Amino acid sequence: MKTVEQQVSNVIELDSKYVMRTYARMPVVFVRGEGCFLYDADGKEYLDFVAGIAVNGLGHCHPKVVSAICEQAPRLMHTSNLYYTPQQPKLAELLTQISSMDKAFFCNSGAEANEAAIKLVRKAAKKSGNPNKIEIVTAQQSFHGRTMGAVSATAQPKYQEPFEPLVPGFKAVPYNDVESLQATVNENTCAVLLEPVQGESGVHPARREFLTAARELCDKYDAALILDEVQTGLGRTGKMFGFEHYGVLPDVMTLAKTLGGGFPIGCCLARGKWAEVFEPGDHACTFGGSPLACAAALAAVDEIKNGGWVENAERVGAYFRNRLSTLPGIREVRGLGLMIAVEFEEPKAKSVTARALEKGLIVNSIGEYVLRLVPPLTISVELVDRALAVLCECL
Ligand SMILES: *Cc1c(COP(=O)(O)O)cnc(C)c1O
Repeated sequence: MKTVEQQVSNVIELDSKYVMRTYARMPVVFVRGEGCFLYDADGKEYLDFVAGIAVNGLGHCHPKVVSAICEQAPRLMHTSNLYYTPQQPKLAELLTQISSMDKAFFCNSGAEANEAAIKLVRKAAKKSGNPNKIEIVTAQQSFHGRTMGAVSATAQPKYQEPFEPLVPGFKAVPYNDVESLQATVNENTCAVLLEPVQGESGVHPARREFLTAARELCDKYDAALILDEVQTGLGRTGKMFGFEHYGVLPDVMTLAKTLGGGFPIGCCLARGKWAEVFEPGDHACTFGGSPLACAAALAAVDEIKNGGWVENAERVGAYFRNRLSTLPGIREVRGLGLMIAVEFEEPKAKSVTARALEKGLIVNSIGEYVLRLVPPLTISVELVDRALAVLCECL
């Protein structure tokens, strides 16, 4: 019998030998998850305040998602999108109803959802008669994914420079800078693409004036307002969608992360004329919206909507942010609902993250100053108190 330490070092050795080094992983091997907890090979319990980076919105292995997958898997996992399955239109109906959108396109990830959105608005603009209507205005420090189109929209030099030349036509303005937005959007703009709360770069919520200005400028120039709700969507911010905080309805919206309750699925939603842009042959995704993925998502979205978890995210999130701001050495606590960042006065986010892991609390650092906290939407005040106690020890 191998000891647990041997098993762990074997996994890490195998990984470093055979897996491309796209991640600087933490030194832990997880083998099981249940609710808000993960367990390593040793049986050690970890309270999970990363939740798969906002993927495990219902926690790990939610019984309703698990049973939806177990019921669907033996019947039909995949068939080509050349044919109908019952689950895909049912999920499209549910998502359009809760989002005020009209139609859905399914794929497997956030980046793919944004690719679909980018292609959709580019095609729509062809009808305008203006051959220069190709520009997509995004925000600095945004994050929209790693594929070439999505990374071209992701205005962060560290993600773009190694892969230049980028897809042309993207222009980035400082986030929340209304004047820059007004100066950049014009008749050559086919879309404005924004996150309601910038997630990956450190949890920066939009200001109301900024999203309102984006909406008005899109209306004025017949451009689409695309909101990337891959992270903010489906309850994370304490409302079903981030845009609900701002009273601004997008024309196109992208979802992924928590949509499948831990199973991969992405979605691009659109309304009005934008919902009618794609025709057969324009865009496709082999795995997109498979009966298995849609069954998982139907169960997950139903539970998020009817289990009271959006309200829970709002209530527990407010409590959490409030308590975090009383911790020592904190410059700022940002966020909405359970999408939270803590900025320290000193560069200690990395060491706090490592120490917390040792003490059985999973948190995520962004650079040296910022801690990102995105626990499951199902987290309780009691577990938040437990996390706060560990964080206090780590500080
Ligand atoms: C995570 C994220 C993405 C990328 O999603 P992937 O599934 O990793 O492709 C895109 N946009 C936002 C806002 C995200 O948080």
